[in-house]
Amino acid sequence: MKIILLGPPGAGKGTQAANIVEKYNVPHISTGDIFRKNIKEGTELGKKAQEYINQGKLVPDELTCGLVASRLSEPDCKDGFMLDGFPRNIFQAEYLDKYLSENNVALDKVINIEVDSKLLIDRACGRRICKTCGATYHVQFNPSKKEGICDVCDSALTQRPDDNEETVSHRIEIYLSETKPLVDYYTKKGVIANINGNQDISKVFEDIKAALA
Ligand code: ADP
Ligand code: ADP
Ligand code: ZN
Repeated sequence: MKIILLGPPGAGKGTQAANIVEKYNVPHISTGDIFRKNIKEGTELGKKAQEYINQGKLVPDELTCGLVASRLSEPDCKDGFMLDGFPRNIFQAEYLDKYLSENNVALDKVINIEVDSKLLIDRACGRRICKTCGATYHVQFNPSKKEGICDVCDSALTQRPDDNEETVSHRIEIYLSETKPLVDYYTKKGVIANINGNQDISKVFEDIKAALA
């Protein structure tokens, strides 16, 4: 299964990615997670990416595209993969198309999670993440069993520095201008499945499974 997850910040891509990985056993490639790991480890890439991420801007394509291509060339992606947060603009989509066609790979589905803009700020600002295992929670909509503690690995939960109202609003604007055109792009290619992401997490996953069946 070769899948792309598309949707605005806070739509539920990471949350559904965890469900998809469990059911379909595909590697989860999240450019946001890769950047955050590099920031945590203090790499050169992390230092460069951090200034863009903290301002809610896209990290430049030169830093992003090659990273994804090299990840896709690893052996675990041979039979399938799930891209989460890439591509995010037309340049990246065309870059990916070129990479895939050169490697004789075809996408199965682009899962487009649609969520009303008014819900996105609350979703992102209430998000809590576990830096140890990557699990995602929400203070109100998907709380951990013990407040502030990861259910999976018992680590302390944290808030992403870019999950504040001002930065999220900016990320939504960038989504609308740079990323949303990809909905048209993949609709024309006939691979898109539009999913109503305003529903409960479990119902959204039901609809995704139906789209992938
Ligand atoms: P994305 O990866 O698209 O930015 P996440 O999966 O991290 O989004 O979800 C953003 C926040 O919203 C998280 O705190 C998550 O727990 C919560 N969330 C995800 N899906 C839903 C949903 N269907 N309903 C309510 N909250 C959700
Ligand atoms: P969300 O789903 O909440 O928008 P992500 O974790 O996917 O968050 O991304 C966090 C940040 O990392 C983005 O706001 C952006 O700065 C950067 N980023 C992630 N993926 C890309 C990409 N494909 N191109 C450019 N920047 C990216
Ligand atoms: Zn954890």
